[in-house]
Amino acid sequence: MTFENSSSFAAALDQQDGLASYRNQFHFPQHEGKDMIYLTGNSLGLQPKSTRTAVLQELEDWATFGVEGHFYAKNPWYSYHEMFARPSAMIVGAQESEVVVMNQLTVNLHLLLISFYQPSGKRRKILFETKPFPSDHYAFESQAKLHGFDPQEVLVEMQPRQGERLLRTEDIIEKIESLGDELALVCFGGVNYFTGQFFDIPAITMAGHKVGAHVGFDLAHAAGNVPLHLHRDQVDFACWCSYKYLNSGPGGVAGAFVHERHHKNKSLHRLAGWWGHNKSTRFLMEPGFDPIESAEAWQLSNAPVLSMAAHKAALDIFQEVGMDRLREKSELLTAYLQFLIENAANNSDTKYDIITPKNPSERGCQLSIVVPDATKQLVKDLASKGVIVDWREPNVIRVAPVPLYNSFMDLYRFVEILTN
Ligand SMILES: *Cc1c(COP(=O)(O)O)cnc(C)c1O
Repeated sequence: MTFENSSSFAAALDQQDGLASYRNQFHFPQHEGKDMIYLTGNSLGLQPKSTRTAVLQELEDWATFGVEGHFYAKNPWYSYHEMFARPSAMIVGAQESEVVVMNQLTVNLHLLLISFYQPSGKRRKILFETKPFPSDHYAFESQAKLHGFDPQEVLVEMQPRQGERLLRTEDIIEKIESLGDELALVCFGGVNYFTGQFFDIPAITMAGHKVGAHVGFDLAHAAGNVPLHLHRDQVDFACWCSYKYLNSGPGGVAGAFVHERHHKNKSLHRLAGWWGHNKSTRFLMEPGFDPIESAEAWQLSNAPVLSMAAHKAALDIFQEVGMDRLREKSELLTAYLQFLIENAANNSDTKYDIITPKNPSERGCQLSIVVPDATKQLVKDLASKGVIVDWREPNVIRVAPVPLYNSFMDLYRFVEILTN
C-alpha cells in the first residue's frame, strides 16, 4: 500500500478498519475532555470497559456465598484458572494442557528456571539477548548463584555486531553452536522490550536443542502482540505477563507454558505447592507431591480470583477477535507509523531514527525511535499535548500502536504533535 501523510488518508484507513469498533470497548485517559493518544500499551494496556463488571461479579459472589463461592460462584473459583486454558493456548500457540495462568511474570520465570536450568558438569551457561529486561537479568544471576556459580562465569549476554543495534539470527545460532556442550539454557525475550526486535523463536529453539540445551522465552512483549507457535516450535518453556498487550490491569496475573513432552517427567526439579498436586487427591491433604500431568503442575497456590476476573474480561476480547485479525491490523498500523516517522525525518531537521527492525516479521507493533538531542522532557511535553509514549535512556521513545484500540488517526496526530 502507498501511504500518504494526511489526515484524510488516516481517516480513510480507519474507515476500512474491520476492528475499529473495538476502540469503544476501552477506557482512554482524558486530556482536556478528549481521549488521549495512548501509545503505551506495551507498558500497561488500557482497561476494557467490561473489566469493572467482571471484578464486581466476583466481589458480589464473595459477599453472597462466602467460602461456597469456590463451587457456587457464577464462575466457580475452584476451577477459575481453567477458563484461561483455551484463550491462552490460542494466544501463544499451545495445547491447552501446556499453559497455565498463575502468579506474576518474574515469579513464573523463576519457577520455570528451577525446572529448566539444570546445570551439570561443564554444561552450566545461560545465553540471553543483549539488554534483557532487568528483572530477567536478576533472575538469571540469582539462579546461577543458587547453583553456587559466579554469575560472571555462566551468564552469556549475546552482543550485536560492532556498530549494530539488533541481533542477527545467524549470529545467535553461531553463538549457540560455539557454546555447544557448555550451554545449559537459552532464554531470550520473545520481543525485546527496548529494541522491539521479535526473535526467530523456531530457529533459536532448534539451535539450542541441537547442542543439548533447554530453550525458553520471556514473552512479556510478545504475548498478544505477535503470532506465536510455542508447541509447534518445540519451545521448552515460556512465561508472560498480562498487563502489557493483554490489558489485564497493573500487576495482573501472569502466564506460563511448559511443552507437553515435559509433563510426565516427574524427575524435573520443581518448587511444589498444593495447587500443582493431582486434583483427585488434592483434598486428602497428605504429604507426597504428585504433580498434575500438565502445565498446571507448576502452580503453587489457589487462584487469585480478583485479578483473574480482570484477565478474563480482557481475554474474552482476544478470543472474539483472534490473533490473525489483530496481527493483520497491527502490521498495517506499524507500517503506517514507520512511514510517518521516516517522512518526518526526511522533511525536518530532527533525524528520527527507528531502531526496531523494518521487516514486519521481525517486530511486533512497537517502534523504538531515537530522537537525537531529546531529553526526558520530551515525553512530558507530549503528555501536556495529550500524547502518552514512553522514554528509555538515553534518547529513545517507545511507541506501540495497539490494534485493539489504536487508530490510524492516533498515529497521524501523534507524529503531527511530535514534529511541531
Ligand atoms: C515487563 C517485563 C517484566 C516485568 O516483570 P513483573 O514480574 O511482571 O514485574 C519482566 N520481564 C520482561 C521481559 C518484561 O518485559
